[in-house]
Amino acid sequence: MARAGRWPDSWLMECGEWFRQACGSLLDLVLPAQCAGCGATGSPWCPGCAHGLAMCCFPQPRHAPPTPCPAGMPPVVAAGRYAGVLRAALVAVKDDGRTDLRVHLAPLLCAAVEVAGAAYPDAVLVPMPSSRSAVRRRGEASVAELTRRADRLAHRPRGVVPALRPLRRVADQARLGRLARAANLTGAYAVPARFVRTLQGKPVLLVDDVVTTGATLTEGARALRAAGAHVVGAAVVAATERRRDSRRGSSANTGPPG
Ligand SMILES: [Zn+2]
Repeated sequence: MARAGRWPDSWLMECGEWFRQACGSLLDLVLPAQCAGCGATGSPWCPGCAHGLAMCCFPQPRHAPPTPCPAGMPPVVAAGRYAGVLRAALVAVKDDGRTDLRVHLAPLLCAAVEVAGAAYPDAVLVPMPSSRSAVRRRGEASVAELTRRADRLAHRPRGVVPALRPLRRVADQARLGRLARAANLTGAYAVPARFVRTLQGKPVLLVDDVVTTGATLTEGARALRAAGAHVVGAAVVAATERRRDSRRGSSANTGPPG
């Protein structure tokens, strides 16, 4: 008898996605849908928020390096700024299980990948991994799922290689400052031996949902380089904007892990 542990991750994730969508459809029959952007009832994503999402995006995906930019940080391209309904949609997918909103986010990520990888048609996509506890909680690796969906929209899909693994538990990045985030993540990821041969000398684009301080992407790039990959850049849906705290004369990145 086949054991669940031997089934391909992608197959299990497809099943999980189908089950969630089926449950969501049943719930929609009983409870009125609520917009994940503004909370209005009647639609899971209202026309106002659909318009607002476009307003959060840059006219074209563009380079959005964190300030300061960590040493070893790959050049990163973002589709928009981490604010308003774009932020609401990303949070709803990650924290509220609103996987239905990926349909709105995947085209943005696809466009960012296109710009980030324009000079590297052979680069494959490596999504930043979710923590083991997040995968248990959500039943899936959120960024990997979004990356697969975005790649399916591409004119020439590049292929998604989920080669990064968390080596250990890391503290919740959202509660940490810039330097603490970098220290928290040092040595946090590795590439399992079975992916090393695939990635040797291979151009790679890292993919994440949000870039904040760049600590996550920098650590991901370090692990991939250590495995012999050629990290050519990174693509994200949204980039946080650095705000200056005038009272303390210091600046802070606000936002999620990243
Ligand atoms: Zn709305």
